Amino acid sequence: MVICSSHDSGISKALDRAIAGHRLSPKEIRHLYEAPQDELAAAANDMRMRCTDPQVATYSIGGNIDYTNVCAVACRFCAFYRAKNQNGAFTLAIDEIVRRVGQLKSQGGGDVLLQGGINPDLSFEWYLDLLRSLKKNYPDMHIDAFSPEEILGMERLTGRDAPDILGDLKDAGLDGMPGAAAEILVDEVRARIAPTRIRTADWFRIIDAAMALHLHNPWVGMVINFGETLDQRVAHLTALRDQQDRAMHRYGSSFIAYKVWPARLEHTRLSAASPQAREEEIVKEYLRDVAVGRLALDNVDNHRAVWRTMGFTVAGRALQSGANDLCGTGSINAIDACIEAAGKKVPDSGTTIIADVVACIEEAGFRAALRDPYYNIIKYSNCRSEYGDGATT
Ligand code: SF4
Repeated sequence: MVICSSHDSGISKALDRAIAGHRLSPKEIRHLYEAPQDELAAAANDMRMRCTDPQVATYSIGGNIDYTNVCAVACRFCAFYRAKNQNGAFTLAIDEIVRRVGQLKSQGGGDVLLQGGINPDLSFEWYLDLLRSLKKNYPDMHIDAFSPEEILGMERLTGRDAPDILGDLKDAGLDGMPGAAAEILVDEVRARIAPTRIRTADWFRIIDAAMALHLHNPWVGMVINFGETLDQRVAHLTALRDQQDRAMHRYGSSFIAYKVWPARLEHTRLSAASPQAREEEIVKEYLRDVAVGRLALDNVDNHRAVWRTMGFTVAGRALQSGANDLCGTGSINAIDACIEAAGKKVPDSGTTIIADVVACIEEAGFRAALRDPYYNIIKYSNCRSEYGDGATT
């Protein structure tokens, strides 16, 4: 089926090949960025319908807990971190983290994501104690935690390598590790936006170690709007696709989902160097990358729409542009810091937000389904029957 009305044969060929289920070359992925948005979204939606249940979009009730914002890496794009003695610096006590997980569980949450800065005052034993305490109190709670950056920090702390460290963390209760700290996996970009951040080779080395251990990988991401070129985004996507192939082939492991979101650089040290685009431009780029991601990452089944930073209206459009899942419902302190830095209101948290999530999915034309961390359906939801007419809290 040829759906492209464009006269550029490279664009129409790339769209046609994607729709026909062929793997796209980097050059073809680059062509997608030039495609008209409605045709790109239609092709991505077509692929999403083939990869996942065409009637359903999923959501989860999960929570994010940032255990410390003290960080020695000091990325230039980060509005979240604080130096050790700086105003606003915090490190949660293990008891407090256990209490918050209990609160999440009482709200129906089944999984939690723990992340934090690279805090030199935390020992490796602290991380093990944290996981053991959580599993002791809530054995059924699924725990995803840390990023390749945090694992690199533990390598430097202990002098041990990632497979050993991840093995110990897994024994202590770690269920999975997200593909966080990726941004754009091109060192030229990383050196500019975060000179001391984990480099591309280390990121893949540590992710590969986690996949070899069959740790769950809830998502892998791409963060755009750092002033990177489109070719650099293509390089990022194809590197993720290669890693997915490798892990599936070698270990039978995979990134379970992919998501893209735009960096918010206001009030960060990058704001002067990277003047931010207007909101309409950010939305346009975000939706384009949702669709490109679906077509480029043909080996990742689930693609997430982010509502927390983009809002429900845009997230609903993302669900019509290749995404099949709305990101979780919990509070995301690090992301909230970026939202606040951009001068926006941080959305409410808690169970009441679920009504908004379900309504967003239904308004986008899908049946909403609550899922577990592995994308198994727990139950189908209906906004009207569960939350009443017009219930969007
Ligand atoms: S992004 Fe992570 S590693 Fe970088 S400064 Fe912020 S908390 Fe630290």
